[in-house]
Amino acid sequence: MTPLVFHPIYSQLPLPPRHRFPIEKYQGIRDALVARGITSDRFSAPSPVSSAFLTDYFAPNYVNALVSGVLDDKAMRRIGFPWSEHLIKRSLTAVAGTILTAELAIEHGQALNLTGGYHHAFADFGSGFCLFNDLFLAAKTMQKYGHIDNVLIIDLDVHQGDGTAKLAQDDKSIFTLSIHGEKNFPHRKQHSDLDIGLAKGTGDDEYLETVEQALLLAERQFQPDAIIYDAGVDIHENDDLGHLCISTEGVYQRDKMVYDFCRALDVPVAGVIGGGYQRDIDALVNVHLQLYRAFGVID
Ligand SMILES: [Zn+2]
Repeated sequence: MTPLVFHPIYSQLPLPPRHRFPIEKYQGIRDALVARGITSDRFSAPSPVSSAFLTDYFAPNYVNALVSGVLDDKAMRRIGFPWSEHLIKRSLTAVAGTILTAELAIEHGQALNLTGGYHHAFADFGSGFCLFNDLFLAAKTMQKYGHIDNVLIIDLDVHQGDGTAKLAQDDKSIFTLSIHGEKNFPHRKQHSDLDIGLAKGTGDDEYLETVEQALLLAERQFQPDAIIYDAGVDIHENDDLGHLCISTEGVYQRDKMVYDFCRALDVPVAGVIGGGYQRDIDALVNVHLQLYRAFGVID
């Protein structure tokens, strides 16, 4: 049984009209899972993390200014959301969701958050809709358990996991793997432990072959005790931001490949949904559902 982590606040964020972020998708995924027979008691709800927790890992100046609403306009524009009390509460809850997912994964072998993947957040600034880097925090949380030393972060969102790469740059106990669109944001890439930038228009066959080879390469260089998986679906052929051309079935095959990789290594895996920017929410939810299919939550 794969535990699921969700809070209604994931989708509760008033945004300006025509804002491109599809904030409704989180509730949409929850509703779609329930419509497929998942009962409400399968979902665990996180409580927001505190600023004090975040300042153990990130720059206190940044965390405190952002949480209290005094971060300057330029830094807020880089994040891409207008500041509000609600934005902060939502972000602190979403980050807590990924941490809870990491804890549940250690207990149950696998767990999935219905949000997460804030990989463009650095220690001292946020970027690209990301305020606080939940993937890095989840890795550090897993390492608090005595038997977990090495954590592999597999980031298959179409955008490079630049914040995660930078945060873990000097940390040999965290291996970062990013497969992304070479021409997609961020234009200035950071150095993950393993980076693969794919050309515009890359399709299923080349993509899946690349993922398979990259997983083998990561396994040869690093022996993970736990895995965090960012299953961004902005690789999809209909995505508004991604430059790749992956079918819905290709997304499923990718997620299944990662799942099988984790099971073969017999290590816990915590999954987050990552990016996905189709404007048709039902279509977008359907692509995100492939992760839950691959992990055996739904058929
Ligand atoms: Zn993305």
